[in-house]
This record gives sequence, C-alpha cells and structure tokens, in this order.
Amino acid sequence: MKTVHSAELFSTAQEVIPGGVNSPVRAFRGVGGDPLFMDHAQGPYLWDVDGQRYIDYVGSWGPMIHGHAHPEILEAVAEVARRGLSFGAPTAIEVRMAQMVCDLVPSIEMVRMTCSGTEAVMSAVRLARGVTRRDKIVKFEGNYHGHSDSLLVKAGSGALTLGQPSSAGVPEELSRDTLVLPYNDLAAVTEILEQWGFDIAAIIVEPIAGNMGCVPPAEGFLEGLRALCDRFGSLLIFDEVMTGFRVAAGGAQALYGVRPDITTLGKIIGGGLPVGALGGSRAILDQLAPNGPVYQAGTLAGNPLAMAAGLKTLELLQQPGFHARLATNTEVLCSGLKAQAAQKGIALEVNAVPGMFGIFFSDRPVRNFQDVMAADTERYARFFHALLGQGVYLAPSAFEAGFLSAAHDETVIARTLEATEKAFATL
Ligand code: PMP
Repeated sequence: MKTVHSAELFSTAQEVIPGGVNSPVRAFRGVGGDPLFMDHAQGPYLWDVDGQRYIDYVGSWGPMIHGHAHPEILEAVAEVARRGLSFGAPTAIEVRMAQMVCDLVPSIEMVRMTCSGTEAVMSAVRLARGVTRRDKIVKFEGNYHGHSDSLLVKAGSGALTLGQPSSAGVPEELSRDTLVLPYNDLAAVTEILEQWGFDIAAIIVEPIAGNMGCVPPAEGFLEGLRALCDRFGSLLIFDEVMTGFRVAAGGAQALYGVRPDITTLGKIIGGGLPVGALGGSRAILDQLAPNGPVYQAGTLAGNPLAMAAGLKTLELLQQPGFHARLATNTEVLCSGLKAQAAQKGIALEVNAVPGMFGIFFSDRPVRNFQDVMAADTERYARFFHALLGQGVYLAPSAFEAGFLSAAHDETVIARTLEATEKAFATL
C-alpha cells in the first residue's frame, strides 16, 4: 500500500488539528496505524490521496445510502446552490422536507431540522424534560447519542473506541440525572422505572444499536420500553439518527411496529451534508419555540443545500424494492462472512439488519455491551488491516457498524468476499 501522501497530510494535520482529525474514530486509534486521507468517491468506492481505491463500508458513517456522488443528488444540490447558499429565512424546500418526513416516519406529525444528530438529540432531551417537567433520563450502555453533556455517559462509538465512554468536562450534576442500563435488559429497566418512574422524563434508545457494532433489539424489548413509558408518563425517544430511512423507509419504528413519542434523525436525511432533525406528535413538537416554552434554534438549520441533498436521497429510497434489495445484499455479505469464518474455524458473530451489520470475533451471541466487550478487538484490527491492503475499507474500530449502499451490488459484494476470504486466512 502507498501511504506517502496520507502520511504527509497526517503529519501536518496533527500540528493544527487535535489528533489530526475532526472526529475521533477517524484517527484509526481503534485499529492502530495512521488514517488514510480520502480524495474522492463514487458509488461504492473511495479513493485515497495516494490513488488507491477501496470498497467503502463506512459510507460516511451512514448517510451515503445511494453510494457516493450520486448524479441526481449532486445535481439537486448544484441547482439549489446557484440560488444562494443560506438565507436565514424560511424556504419552500424546508416545507417539502418536513412533509416528506411526516409521510415516511409513522410517529412523526411535525419535525424541526437541526445541523447535526448531536443537536437533534440534545434538543429532544430538552423537549422531553420541558414537556414532562422531570429531569432524569434513562439511556443504555454502549448507545451513542452524540456528544451533548447529558448523553456522554457510558456512550458508544468513538468514546468507547478511546476507552472513555464517559467524558471529562461533564458536570456531575448532569451525569447524575442520566441513568444507564444494560441494552436489551427489560427487567433492569422495569426495576429502575418502578423506583424512579415518576422522575424520569424520557427513555432514550437506539432502536437498533449501531454504536457498539450492530446489536438489534431483543424480541419484546422496544415494546416493553413503550409500555413502561406509558405506565409512568415518561416519553420514549428513538434515536434513529443511524437507522432512520435505512432499515426501512420509516426507520426502525416501521420495521418493528413500535411508536416512540420523539424521534431523532440525521445522516441519511441530509444525504451527506450536515443535518439532523427531531420529530413527533403535534402536541409535543408544538412545545418548541416559538410556539412553546422549550428553546431550540439554529443559524443554518434547514439549510437549502442540506435539504436538497436530503430530499433527493429520501425520494430515491422510495423506489419499489429498494429496502428489500438492500436487505438481500446485506444478507449475502453477512452469510458469506459467517460461512468463510466457520470454514476456517474462526469464531465469528455477525449481526445484520437491512443495510447495516456488525462483525464480532466472538463465540457467543452479541446482545448487549458486555457481549460486545467480550469480542476480540485485536483480531478485528488485524482483519481490518488485511482488508485495507486488499482495497476494502471497513470501520476503523471494532465498535462501529458497517454500512451498505444501493451501489453495493452483487459484483461488489462478490469482490468483497474474495478479499475477506484471504483476510480470514491471515488471522
Ligand atoms: N445518535 C446516533 C444514534 C448516532 O449514530 C450519531 C452519530 N453517529 C449521533 C446521534 C450523533 O450525530 P452527529 O455525529 O451528526 O452529531
């Protein structure tokens, strides 16, 4: 592998950017070695600054569900850009976006746009606290909800990769109001709600955990959370920043048939531009400023370019059979990986939902944070580097999910499986 230009850039970057990156997981700390700097992308492929091509299973961490540089999405952005980049006043395209989100996501009657998933979740928690006039929230170990103070407690994703699931700088008074429970453990949630239920503003959950690899909900878990929230008057927040529009056009709530009170969105809804959103019933969303007492705002919220990219992305994923194809392709990849590992006597667990997967070098099913931590991350690192050498770019951390796009067709998956076959052999 050639890394001359990446190495040069990384060396300069480290002088002027903390860790040389603008988001921690990009630094390759989870797998060792130095990050590759990317130059351009097309369809399922990324090209680094040294001219090497990779099949990309990161997909910008979720947004690129149609593959990179999709011509219709680029054209939609270019057309809007020519009319001006931002007005700080309402525009027609924001209304179209809101209508489309309300049409697609079962529990959403009203939606407010933000500039990132972090902001969406931060605002959702404030909204839940404002509506219920309660302070405590319940979250799950290894779930990541962005980097706002109340939620950086036993978090997943980069916080986990760096071994700092709880961040320095979060006031203790805030983390005290965040109760953290094991994912998929309804008995533990019931116990806590029975003790604190009437003080709890919200239970926030990734309906499919995607920030400790990929961990789908156990049967009855989401339904159980819904019932507990109803019983104690707490709000149920589904953080669908990752799963929204990916696992189904209506997100995980459509896939599993459970309706949250508030949904947070991001990634796909911006088609690769910075964006987030929170939605829910009219009664709850109307509590936001200017109609209600819960303050929330954003200079660039609803930015026309982000709306154009997002709208076209949402339009394209409503084509008949889109999610069925994505599910089939994910399944082909994941069953291929399992068969290859089994044949070589390598203990491997693969969790998959449409368009998303998690690979764990482990001999036990992975259902929660403890199971994730029991997997062999060192082996993942070797697998990652073996694949990189063959032109396949997996997430540079064992704690991140993999993402497929519509551009990952049979040919691309077959080529990936040739590479993984060789990579398994090096373990
Ligand atoms: N929630 C979830 C479930 C996420 O996966 C992420 C980002 N990976 C966030 C929130 C935060 O989104 P952002 O990085 O856009 O702030």
